[in-house]
Amino acid sequence: MPDLTGRVALVTGSTSGIGRATAARLAGDGAFVIVSGRDPERGDSVVEAITANGGQAVFIGADLADAESAIALATDSLAVKGQVDILVNNAGIAVSGSTAEGTENDFDALYALNVKAPYFLVGQIVPTMIERGSGVVINVSTMVASFGSSSTAIYGSSKAALNQLTRDWAVEFGPGGVRVNTVAPGPTRTEATERVMGPLLDKLAARSPLGRPATPDEVAAVVAFLAGDDAAMVHGQLIHVDGGRSIL
Ligand code: NAP
Repeated sequence: MPDLTGRVALVTGSTSGIGRATAARLAGDGAFVIVSGRDPERGDSVVEAITANGGQAVFIGADLADAESAIALATDSLAVKGQVDILVNNAGIAVSGSTAEGTENDFDALYALNVKAPYFLVGQIVPTMIERGSGVVINVSTMVASFGSSSTAIYGSSKAALNQLTRDWAVEFGPGGVRVNTVAPGPTRTEATERVMGPLLDKLAARSPLGRPATPDEVAAVVAFLAGDDAAMVHGQLIHVDGGRSIL
């Protein structure tokens, strides 16, 4: 278990699902966690659960719709403790359907949240990490950015952009002491997948060698490993947490 005592973590999209599990896990490992999302009620309940378990957290609301909102979240987060040591770019949305059915609204919303927000959060926060000589960025991608699919062109391509940003940032920021990695989950049982996919989630997960969906905690455990010093030489990597689906 990594010791994150004294570190400040910002987890975007931590009002539910994988982000909430990650916020709880990082707080359990000792980090002060900044919980973020659009919904203050869910945000407050995540903070309450963390503090009830002896952890420390605050909620900062943000609708990551553009560069301005990402820069505002970065500024507000840096103001809480004067530093952010761990940035988890987890907030993300998906759509599925054929390319001909894809709308400009969906395209713009996905690219704004999945690509533009991480880009501007990193642009604001990582220079402050470099000033202090250390920091960690973990991007949450998806397995479908690693193989072809007939129904996830907008989503998969947006996360493939995030995978490439991980490699670019690893080269750009590694010399400044900042590690950057990606975690790519497969089907994971969250509010979003329960609501949107229902029984299809188990069917999709059954295609992987391990044959079942992940739990949010199983993804959070990998994020926590990457955040900690045991991962000191893990840099620029894409770690699949998909029961082996992406090797098929
Ligand atoms: P989720 O339960 O729907 O959570 C998504 C989070 O993002 C929520 O906290 C939501 O908070 C936040 N969010 C959504 N739109 C936002 C916006 N415009 N501005 C700021 N925050 C926003 O989803 P999840 O399943 O945990 O997914 C988390 C990440 O894992 C995503 O990047 C997703 O692509 C990736 N992933 C998930 C799976 C899976 O099977 N679950 C598989 C592969 C990859 P509010 O509603 O409060 O804004």
